[in-house]
Amino acid sequence: MEPCEAFDYDILVVGAGGAGLRAVIAAREAGCRVGVVCKSLLGKAHTVMAEGGVAAALGNMVSSDGELEPDGWETHFVDTMKGGAFLNNWRMVEIFAHEAIDRVFELEQYGAVFDRTPEGRIAQRPFGGHKYRRLNHVGDRTGLELIRTVQDKAVGAGMDVHMEVTLVRLLTAGGVVVGALGYHRETGRFVTFRAKAVVLATGGWGRMFRFTSNSWEGTGDGVTLAYEAGAELIDMEMMQFHPTGMIWPPGMRGILVTEGVRGEGGILRNSRGERFMFKPEYMPELYRGQFAESEQEAAGWLDDKKRFRRPPELLPRDVVSRAIYREVKAGNGCEHGGVFLDVSQRGAEYIKAKLPSMYDQFHALGDVDITVEPMEVYPTVHYTMGGIRVDPETAAATVPGLFAAGEVAGGLHGANRLGGNSLSDILVFGRRAGDGAAAWAAGKSLAELDPAQIADGQEQMLKPLGKSGGESPYALHAELQETMQQNAMIAREEAGLKIALDKVRELQKRAEGLAAPGGREYNPGWHATRDLVSMLTVSEIIVLCALERKESRGAQWRIDFPERDDAGWGTKNLVVHRRDGQPAVVESPLPAMPEHLKALFQEH
Ligand SMILES: Cc1cc2nc3c(=O)[nH]c(=O)nc-3n(C[C@H](O)[C@H](O)[C@H](O)COP(=O)(O)OP(=O)(O)OC[C@H]3O[C@@H](n4cnc5c(N)ncnc54)[C@H](O)[C@@H]3O)c2cc1C
Repeated sequence: MEPCEAFDYDILVVGAGGAGLRAVIAAREAGCRVGVVCKSLLGKAHTVMAEGGVAAALGNMVSSDGELEPDGWETHFVDTMKGGAFLNNWRMVEIFAHEAIDRVFELEQYGAVFDRTPEGRIAQRPFGGHKYRRLNHVGDRTGLELIRTVQDKAVGAGMDVHMEVTLVRLLTAGGVVVGALGYHRETGRFVTFRAKAVVLATGGWGRMFRFTSNSWEGTGDGVTLAYEAGAELIDMEMMQFHPTGMIWPPGMRGILVTEGVRGEGGILRNSRGERFMFKPEYMPELYRGQFAESEQEAAGWLDDKKRFRRPPELLPRDVVSRAIYREVKAGNGCEHGGVFLDVSQRGAEYIKAKLPSMYDQFHALGDVDITVEPMEVYPTVHYTMGGIRVDPETAAATVPGLFAAGEVAGGLHGANRLGGNSLSDILVFGRRAGDGAAAWAAGKSLAELDPAQIADGQEQMLKPLGKSGGESPYALHAELQETMQQNAMIAREEAGLKIALDKVRELQKRAEGLAAPGGREYNPGWHATRDLVSMLTVSEIIVLCALERKESRGAQWRIDFPERDDAGWGTKNLVVHRRDGQPAVVESPLPAMPEHLKALFQEH
C-alpha cells in the first residue's frame, strides 16, 4: 500500500452541489465535524447550471380574479406522483411536497434573492406537469443563486473542503461504510478519509450518451461507488430525456434549453409550421381535458391563467420528448434534425428580463437571436430518476454507514421527474441526509481502515498508467456513447437493447487493458480511465433494467411494449444489487399508499 494523506471526520460528504452542501449545514448544526470532497471546484457542480427554478407550492401567484392560486403541498404531491407515473415512493413524495415549502423560505432566510411578484412575494413560473405556477426562480439562473446561498451558509457553518479530489472507493469494515479512498486530480497522489458516516451527493450521470446536458462530471461515480460497496439501486432504467436540447451548431448539441422557455410562452413547431403538440395522439389519457385545445386558448393563458388552460407544450418532459422524436422520425424535422422552439412573440424586453441566460447562450454559441428567430431543439439526456435506494426518513442507503441525497438517490421522482423538483429535492433530502448521518454517527468511534482495501483500490487506479499500446479511454468512451445513443435512448426495443448490452460487455473486457500514457500529474487521460469504468458499470445496469421492464412508463418508452401496464409492471420497482461481482436485477413491490393520500387524487 502506498502511504498517503489521511483525514478524519464525523461525516464525509461527497459532492458539493446543493444536496451535499445542504447536508453539510445539517450535519454542522448537529455538531459534527464535516469534510467535503468534490471532483471540481467548489461552486462548479451541476446545481449551478439549473435554470428554471425550484418547485415548492407556495401559492404566491394571483389569478385574473384577484385570488391567490389555490396551490398547496397536496397538489404538489398529486402532480409529482402523476408525473412519475406512480413509480415514485409515495412517502418520499409526501415528505418532499411538505418540506419543499420550508426549504425555499429557509433559502430566502439564508440570503437568496428571488424574483418578486408586484405584491412583493417570491415570483413563481409555470412548468410542465405542475398544475399551478410553482417554480420559484431567479430569472433563468436559479441554480447559481441556490448554490451561492447554501455555499455561503455552509462556509459560515464551518467545513473542510477537498477540491479537485476524485473518490474512487468506499472503504468498509464488517459491511459498514467507514471511509473512502480518493486521489488529487492535480498531483495524482492518494488520500484517505475516515468517517463515522459517508453522505453521497455526487449528482447524476449522462456522459455515457452522446447528447447530454450534463458536464464532464456526470459519469456516475457515486452510484458506482455505492453499488460496489453493496448498496441497492432502484429505477435505473429511468433516464430523463429533456425535450429541448440545442441541436445546432454541432459542438453545442445537447446543451439545455430550459423548460422556462416554454413556461414563458415558447411554442414548438415542426418544419411544416404545425404546432404539433396539439395533435390528439400526443395527449396522454391521464391529462386529457386539462390542456388548451386551440392556439387561441393557449395564447389567452399567457395573460389569464385562471380562465384558460395551459398550452400542451407544458405536458411532462417524457410526453413532449416522445412527440418531438416522432415528428422528426416522420420527416417533419428541421434541417438539422430537430424541431423549432419559438418564444420571439414575447418581445425582446420580456425575453431578456425573464430568460437572460437563454438569450446569451444562443447569441454566443449559435449566433441566433431568440428575440426574433426560433431555436432548433431535440431531446437531450438530462437527468437520472433512478439511483441509490434510500430510506425516506433518513436518506440511509441499504449499506450501514452510507447515506445518499440529490440526483444520485432514487425513489422520489419515479418514472419521470417534473421540472423544478430536483432543486427542491436536493434541499429537502440533502438536509435529511445530513441529519440522518449525524444521528447514525452519534456515539460511534472512527473505525480502522483496512490496508488491503486501500492497496487494492490504489492498484486498480495505477494499472493503466505508463502502459503503451493498450486501449484509449477516449476511444472506448466514444464507442459507448454511440451504442447508448443509438440503442438505449428515447425509443427502446429488445433488439437494440441487446446490441447495447453486448457492446457494453465487450467494452468492459477491453477496458481491462486501458492505457494512460504519462505520469500521474495533470493527466486527464488517466482520470478518463476511472470515469470510463463507472460509466460502463452504470450503462450495463441501465440497459439490463430497460430490457427487464417490458412496458412503456414515463421515461421508459419500449416501442415493442408501447402500453403502460398498471396491473403488472405498475406495481413494482426494479432493484439492482451486486451478486458475485455481477449486477442482479430483482423486482420489488411498490409500498402501498395510505387511503388519505389516495383520496388526494380525487380532490386535486
Ligand atoms: C443545464 C441544467 C439545468 C437544470 N435546470 C434545473 C432546474 O431549473 N430546476 C431543477 O429542479 N433542476 C434542474 N436541473 C437538475 C439539477 O440541477 C440537478 O439535478 C441538481 O442540481 C443535482 O444536484 P446534486 O447536489 O445532487 O448534484 P450536483 O450539483 O451534480 O453535484 C455533484 C457533486 O458531486 C461531485 N462529485 C461527483 N463525482 C465525484 C467523485 N467521484 N468524487 C468526488 N466528488 C464527486 C461533483 O464534483 C459535484 O460537486 C438542471 C440540470 C442541468 C444540467
